[in-house]
Amino acid sequence: MYTNHEVWFITGAQLLYGGEAVVAVDAHSTGIVKGLNDSGKIPVKVVYKGTVNSSREVAAAFSAANNDPRCAGVITWMHTFSPAKMWIKGLQEFRKPLLHLHTQFNKEIPWGEIDMDFMNLNQSAHGDREFGHIASRLHARRKVVVGHWADEGVQARIAVWTRVAVAWADAQEMVVVRFGDNMNNVAVTDGDKLEAEARLGYHVDYYGIGCLVAYQEAVTEGDVDALVEEYERLYDLADNCKRGARDHRQVREAAREEVALRRFLRDKGAMAFTTNFDALHGLDQLPGLACQRLMAEGYGFGAEGDWKTAALLRTLWVMALGLPGGTSFMEDYTYHFKGERSAILQSHMLEVSPEIAARRPRLEVHPLGIGGKADPARLVFTAGPGAGIAATIVDTGNRFRMIVNNVDVIEPEAALPKLPVASALWIPRPSLEVSAAAWILAGGTHHTAFTRALTNEYFEDYAEIAGIELLTIDERTTVNGFKFEMKVNEIYYR
Ligand code: MN
Repeated sequence: MYTNHEVWFITGAQLLYGGEAVVAVDAHSTGIVKGLNDSGKIPVKVVYKGTVNSSREVAAAFSAANNDPRCAGVITWMHTFSPAKMWIKGLQEFRKPLLHLHTQFNKEIPWGEIDMDFMNLNQSAHGDREFGHIASRLHARRKVVVGHWADEGVQARIAVWTRVAVAWADAQEMVVVRFGDNMNNVAVTDGDKLEAEARLGYHVDYYGIGCLVAYQEAVTEGDVDALVEEYERLYDLADNCKRGARDHRQVREAAREEVALRRFLRDKGAMAFTTNFDALHGLDQLPGLACQRLMAEGYGFGAEGDWKTAALLRTLWVMALGLPGGTSFMEDYTYHFKGERSAILQSHMLEVSPEIAARRPRLEVHPLGIGGKADPARLVFTAGPGAGIAATIVDTGNRFRMIVNNVDVIEPEAALPKLPVASALWIPRPSLEVSAAAWILAGGTHHTAFTRALTNEYFEDYAEIAGIELLTIDERTTVNGFKFEMKVNEIYYR
């Protein structure tokens, strides 16, 4: 449950059918909202805000929704034939996620009892189409969910949208801390930070690494002791990392960096951050372990200055709160060409979230050729098998494009005893050949935000709320079809 947010339920009605009908509408609405809340399926409280019967009432309801920070989005439902001209002004002003629930209080037609009054009281089939017309006419971005409100599938679709709406609200407040700039001349990790704030909500702030060094100097040996004890409880320490062993010093320095980083982010009110291995002045080592653990706590992370992936990872983590599966920063690293079983080994220099670990991670210290610093500590593990999604957002110059690829994480054919980092091996759908060609044609990153907790519907809802392009690469994708879709999108987004 997300405790800081709620979604509002507003019912469209009208006074044509008299006072008794309005009383019945109110009772039906109360019943639906109670049913949704009692289902335990919706991860926030659904708050019934009453019926609206006029343009003034609609505008007042949406204005209140815009201005209440607890309100993550609004669900509308037209009980009776609700003349939709009254929605024009409200919809024009509304700035939060909208879900149009096309449902009906009554589940099945009471064949022997149905009369004209019953039909008039249960005519969402009619009223919701009228509402849909004006919403489409105004280009109101929204999700339309169809079905009986007590149906589990309907509730699941509302729940997905609710999670995305809360993540969207979170993104509107998100600060991304960026230590240093982009890593030397990498293109795809850069982009328009002003447009990101205007379109996607989050704010990206630069900090020199010296700001973090100042925090590091304030970390006490007691702080380090406490965190090292936590490492010993949670992970299997390699022999060279244990107390008294050769590389234990680096474990302590990694802990010092973690304490400093967490305090820094907290003081800045940041929920995402990036690092850059070219900007480590004053640090003992590239902060790998700290990034891994902070990711698992919900901080978005992007390596090498990748602020877009950092922000996206935070957003996915919020959507997935409480769901099994895990979410992590990832990078396409090495191919395994083997016909239909061709796969990609996903990893990074250090920074993969232990949320996706199949087993208790090992804490290890190994040399790292890049960065010119001490050998960094890191958690080493392999991700467990299962379906997941790798996602990215790129800046195409005139818009943000979200690309998602459905993948299947598989067990490696053999152990990887010499690989000193966390990894996942996956087969992208529909195949490595088609997926990689489509991804490359779309200009996708080598970095992704990876999740096993979410389905495509979350990304569809997010792109709809944000109003950004969404390209999906899944089992139905062909390269030709994908190219056609991109060409059409070029015109749409011109
Ligand atoms: Mn990278």
